[in-house]
Amino acid sequence: MRAFSIQSLMRQPCRLCHAPTLPGRSLCQQCQDALPHLEHACPCCALPLDERTPPGSLCGECLADPPAFDRARVPFRYREPLNHLVSRFKYHRGLSDGRLLGELLAEHTAGTRVSVELLLPMPLHPARLRGRGFNQAAELARVVSPACGIPWRSNLLTRQKQGASQREADRKTRLRNVRSAFRCQARDLPSRVAIIDDVITTGATARAAAACLKKAGVDWVEIWAVARTPRPGDT
Ligand SMILES: [Zn+2]
Ligand SMILES: [Zn+2]
Repeated sequence: MRAFSIQSLMRQPCRLCHAPTLPGRSLCQQCQDALPHLEHACPCCALPLDERTPPGSLCGECLADPPAFDRARVPFRYREPLNHLVSRFKYHRGLSDGRLLGELLAEHTAGTRVSVELLLPMPLHPARLRGRGFNQAAELARVVSPACGIPWRSNLLTRQKQGASQREADRKTRLRNVRSAFRCQARDLPSRVAIIDDVITTGATARAAAACLKKAGVDWVEIWAVARTPRPGDT
């Protein structure tokens, strides 16, 4: 019979390439280093900026129409291998991929000066939740919360109606679609919260959810998401 050491039993193979990992890690060092870190981005909404834009500059949209959230913390660009992990997680119930994404998000937010008191997963519309069987943002919060030592609640921010396909709608239509989509339990909210989401795409949903929290009296709202897409047409 083949003998296994305790260490080898505790180590999972790398989630991306199956190479050996360091104890307690889900990725090997090489895959970890190759992740598409989002380094040059709008300090408010995390939109990737082009190389000519000076570091620390706000993007055009945040300048012209500042969002209700105060800042977005996003470790990665939405490209390989993050897009594969996110789609396995969301559309193929890849809950271990979700755990890895949660760990990566927790690592990023733990490295910043975190001062929020509560995490709120971005709610799914009830019909979409029934179809998918789980809310991906709640699964991320389940991992991020203990790692950061911040509690999470899934019933304080809720979604009332299905947004139209956000990619195809123009900006005005997107904002109108999502503006009235959220409800929150104001009396149970602390003054500083972070909304957890998987990917920020247009930012319209994050804007609307944050506006709902601000209207309910929350002072500081952050958006914590695993990845950010570029503006349509940018790379
Ligand atoms: Zn690997
Ligand atoms: Zn911005």
